Amino acid sequence: MDFAVTDDQQEILRSIDRFMERHFPPEMVRRLDREHEFPAHLLKGFGDLGILAVPFPESHGGLGGDWQTVVLIQERLGYHSAIAAALYSITVDFGGMTLMTAGSERQKAELLPRLIAGEAQFCLALTEPEAGTDAAAMRTSATRTATGWRVRGRKTWISCADTASFIVTPCRTEPGSKGKKGITMLMIPREAAGIHMTRLPKVGNNSLTSWDIAFDDVEVPADAVIGEVGDGFRVLMSTLQYSRSGQASNAIGQAQAAIDLALSHARERQQFGAPLSQFQVLRHKLVDMQMRVDQARLSLYHLAWLISTGRPCRRESAAVKVLGSEALQFVADHGMQIMASAGYAAESDMNRYWRDGRLYTFGEGTNEMQRDLIAREMGL
Ligand SMILES: Cc1cc2nc3c(=O)[nH]c(=O)nc-3n(C[C@H](O)[C@H](O)[C@H](O)COP(=O)(O)OP(=O)(O)OC[C@H]3O[C@@H](n4cnc5c(N)ncnc54)[C@H](O)[C@@H]3O)c2cc1C
Repeated sequence: MDFAVTDDQQEILRSIDRFMERHFPPEMVRRLDREHEFPAHLLKGFGDLGILAVPFPESHGGLGGDWQTVVLIQERLGYHSAIAAALYSITVDFGGMTLMTAGSERQKAELLPRLIAGEAQFCLALTEPEAGTDAAAMRTSATRTATGWRVRGRKTWISCADTASFIVTPCRTEPGSKGKKGITMLMIPREAAGIHMTRLPKVGNNSLTSWDIAFDDVEVPADAVIGEVGDGFRVLMSTLQYSRSGQASNAIGQAQAAIDLALSHARERQQFGAPLSQFQVLRHKLVDMQMRVDQARLSLYHLAWLISTGRPCRRESAAVKVLGSEALQFVADHGMQIMASAGYAAESDMNRYWRDGRLYTFGEGTNEMQRDLIAREMGL
């Protein structure tokens, strides 16, 4: 295993820094968060920058890069902005990797070039009002018609759904089936008639818009199916390592940004005639914060290596999701304590890391479920 960042990867990371400074600088990140606004300009910019192309084969207009590079990109985006990394992740991990894992050659040829150019955004609509952690309890149905499928049901808490071009939607296609059987993955065009969305207000991640979606007899063509009919749950499970690594990279990027902010505050702020950073209790807090993030990052790079080399990684992807999300929560909480009133102020970035970071231990599969999975993998 070699986790050294190559010259090419360094250049990609520098180009992301330049892009973010130009197109999504900190004051804009803060403003959009304050105004609960989605950064609609970002995806096309990612396409122009070339970073959406990294994991896809050259035959489809990609760069044929490895997963280590994807993880570095997502981590750096997360350092600058949670919504930037989330947007990259939902498009590449949910859209692109679902296509790569289960899409037909025709679907890949049609959709991957649009995705790579930043012209097609994706989202995943899995959660339902009665099926959260117990995702296999989903009820949204798709029934066969003469030309394809008719979708009926409701999904909830779907991120960035209104701006998506395609909603990756697992549906129950075998009437009367229960659990993981009889589910089919559909790629539903956002513009299809009968889709009604309602925005959900929430406590953080304000730029990552959240939607309740009603599918009222939505007609989709037969070729909206990704993979085999009835095999949708397996398709979903086989892409989880990508989205879990995406979630962890984003969390780790944010956590490092929170540490850097707390560190610079602790160096500058004086009390009792000395900078806060001279008080041992705060120095030790900062050390614990950095060690938690370093540990999560190392596990993340290991996971990326497992993915790139095609090795099994169910346990490791669950563990990385837990380690990354809990590192972010730990760091944001202690960062707030170190900055105190300066961190609690409305305009402080620490306030945003603290609010946003709370999501990660239950979003993308709760940490309780990840621990259950790891327990099973350990033979418990
Ligand atoms: C901001 C935001 C963005 C989201 N984005 C998306 C998205 O883009 N697409 C999407 O499909 N979903 C999305 N979700 C939904 C998210 O994935 C769910 O919130 C998550 O899966 C948990 O489901 P739930 O909220 O219904 O909690 P519940 O399933 O009600 O769980 C509540 C608690 O009970 C625990 N629990 C449940 N069952 C067990 C058990 N058997 N053993 C032990 N503990 C258990 C859980 O771990 C959790 O702590 C998003 C949610 C939020 C808040």
